Amino acid sequence: MGIVERMRLDGKKGFVTGGARGIGKCTATAFAEAGADVAIVDMDIEEAKKTAAEIAAATGRKVIAIQADVTKEAEVQAMVDQVVAELGGLDFCHANAGIAINAPAEEMTLAQWQKIIDINLTGVFLTDTIAGRYMLKNGGGSIINTASMSAHIVNVPQPQCGYNASKAGVIQLTKSLAVEWAQKGVRVNSISPGYIGTELILSAPQLKPLISKWNELSPIGRLGKPEELMSICVYLAGDTSTFTSGSDFIVDGTFTCF
Ligand code: NAD
Repeated sequence: MGIVERMRLDGKKGFVTGGARGIGKCTATAFAEAGADVAIVDMDIEEAKKTAAEIAAATGRKVIAIQADVTKEAEVQAMVDQVVAELGGLDFCHANAGIAINAPAEEMTLAQWQKIIDINLTGVFLTDTIAGRYMLKNGGGSIINTASMSAHIVNVPQPQCGYNASKAGVIQLTKSLAVEWAQKGVRVNSISPGYIGTELILSAPQLKPLISKWNELSPIGRLGKPEELMSICVYLAGDTSTFTSGSDFIVDGTFTCF
């Protein structure tokens, strides 16, 4: 079998948090195109249902929608249980749900700080450990976390210390779990996208006007597209990446190179 065939995910089952739209919708599509059955997990169940139906119609795979808030332990546990029950197992997951909050550090409230850490970091901890617990007992698996180039650099001009700190935490959490589970069959990696043209940016009134500034700062001179994250996630979810764990993949069109 050639490398392209070996990268396929036929027979595998997985879920994507924040899968209703944006980056998560794209990676869920990629997983299904590669042959996997997939659960679209999101707080926004109406959008998740639409996305699941769209991907199922396009790929012929089983694609289900599950409502869960990644900050709620019981909801994440129920979601993983439902994935296992309805899809018949769990081989990979993409812990991708996240939000952005922009506020100068000296004006950021504790509530704002806690919200971003809860969703972007604690949500990944809950997703990874609850999915990981199943995978450790059931033949292993692959976990992909969405970090950000903001884990590596401080974005300008918008102030976003909570976001940057949460994403740096995701990378060190990824490495910690990867080391703990290295000999137990569960791999954990992260992706660190640069600016990607999703609703997170395009529908945020404070961020959209900054796109031209970011493009000036970027050697490639444009935002990334969520589609440009599809193949790295299929690679990480599948069986050609079995020596890849604890790694972070920056996909930023050179933004962080200088
Ligand atoms: P998006 O806003 O388009 O989509 C995020 C999805 O997550 C939404 O469907 C939302 O309903 C869901 N969500 C939010 N909070 C949730 C919660 N508590 N529980 C369950 N679902 C929840 O965002 P996106 O641009 O696709 O971003 C996805 C991930 O990629 C985030 O972690 C984000 O930080 C990261 N990221 C985005 C960019 C970018 O430029 N867009 C760059 C780097 C990293």
